[in-house]
Amino acid sequence: MPISKHTYKNTDITVVWQPSLCIHSGICFKGLPAVFDPRGRKPWIEMDKAGTEAIVAQVKQCPSGALSFFYNNDVEGEGKDVG
Ligand code: SF4
Repeated sequence: MPISKHTYKNTDITVVWQPSLCIHSGICFKGLPAVFDPRGRKPWIEMDKAGTEAIVAQVKQCPSGALSFFYNNDVEGEGKDVG
């Protein structure tokens, strides 16, 4: 069965959340509650509530790997000839 993934974007990055990996540690919610609010808000991750750097720093704290991110430029630039 494919692993379920949810994505949340701002102009710089895309945060990926894999619910099956989340151990509900609350670290994201305690660290950056404006962005990460699992108490029934939809979407539970709101990317416009903090700056990209703060969100990246928080995503890196996720102990289970449920949260990850990539820069939107990386995808757009894929295969681009920069020479
Ligand atoms: S920090 Fe990671 S494991 Fe903990 S609640 Fe947030 S997404 Fe889930």
